[in-house]
Amino acid sequence: MEQVDFAICGGRIVNPATGLDGMGSIGIRNGKIAVIDMDSSVTFDLQHVVRADGYIVIPGMIDCHVHAYQHATPLGINIDDHCLARGVTTAVDAGSAGSSTFPGLRKFIAERSHTRLLAFLHIASHGLASAGCSAGAAGGECDHLNQVDVSKCVRCVTQNTDMIVGVKVRVSESCTDNGRIEEEVYRRALAASTESGVPLMVHHSISTVPVAKEEGKLCCPFDMNPGDIYTHAFMPHLSHILERDKKAVHPDVWEARRKGIYFDIGHGAGSFSWTVAEICTQEGFWPDTISTDLHCESVDGPAYDLVTVMTKMYALGMPFNEIIASVTSRPAAAIQRLECLGSLQVGREADITMLKIEECDIDLEDCYGQVRKVKKRIVPVGVWRNGKRFDVSPHPNCPNVDSIINGINAWDGTDVRDARKPSLS
Ligand SMILES: [Zn+2]
Repeated sequence: MEQVDFAICGGRIVNPATGLDGMGSIGIRNGKIAVIDMDSSVTFDLQHVVRADGYIVIPGMIDCHVHAYQHATPLGINIDDHCLARGVTTAVDAGSAGSSTFPGLRKFIAERSHTRLLAFLHIASHGLASAGCSAGAAGGECDHLNQVDVSKCVRCVTQNTDMIVGVKVRVSESCTDNGRIEEEVYRRALAASTESGVPLMVHHSISTVPVAKEEGKLCCPFDMNPGDIYTHAFMPHLSHILERDKKAVHPDVWEARRKGIYFDIGHGAGSFSWTVAEICTQEGFWPDTISTDLHCESVDGPAYDLVTVMTKMYALGMPFNEIIASVTSRPAAAIQRLECLGSLQVGREADITMLKIEECDIDLEDCYGQVRKVKKRIVPVGVWRNGKRFDVSPHPNCPNVDSIINGINAWDGTDVRDARKPSLS
């Protein structure tokens, strides 16, 4: 009999990193995975068994775009309430802190949370301490180049490699002095990422930096480096990834993907459009990573939590195992942590999520009040972080009428959208 503290038995284990998919059991000892048994050759002490019949057991989920700096930035949310309690064991903050505000993110959030917190460091020294939610909000973190210091950023990354996994920049008119210094901000962020040897995550929306290649100009995403992450991939504003006729993904974007750039969802409150997602996915342009961009304006809808964003991709026809890869092994690879995160392997910390697929009949809204019918949803039913079980909270109420109204109010500002403006009736 195998000596373990407890075992999760009878579930379907899906571990994309090793190609494992089958019925089996996992034994945990001292917070670490001690056994993965796929042929019922191991017997466990029955007192310490968690039954997983009908459930799917996967590596602890990674949400690679959230805003965790609660109380210090206007966007911050509580990651234990909205990440861990919804099945996410690792949250990656997407640039809430810059070099001068990073120590607080570590001391007041990472060290006090049960959720593992990693971070992309903003190229702006003060991060998102005062910035608005998204493109369109007044003022921005990179309005003055004094705040965009490559050497400070590189120093902070290299001194905090246990927690910082990349650099973040918002390439958008509204946060770069109305676009006047936008290309230079982007150039500095690329330099900081290259110098510190970590990937760059780029938010690119309503931008003077073109999607299509242009002689003598930096473009986005093609001029990002292999391994960099293009977030908000299904964003419908100007600078979206579609061709001018809005019917297909731009060829320079396909070329960027072939070059090794990752495409991430980063749903948020303004960056996911059903229309764009449908155009992209019908062409086979699936996201590499699924993330929420969870912040105080997206957490009560339209993003809600990671499983709701995964449910949207499931409704679009993304294969289930691909969805699991995009919240486990792929984000782990994108943040260069595949050697320790995103896979169920003996000897690793026992970060484990248990899911089920539930029948439902709901309309799920995007960021513009556009809804689609969803008949199956992905639901968390168990979560362990470092071998310790945490409670899973109930479903958020979705769809949320207030979130739909906010979306409809923003609909006129989109460049890609459904033929008809949504209404509540
Ligand atoms: Zn964000």
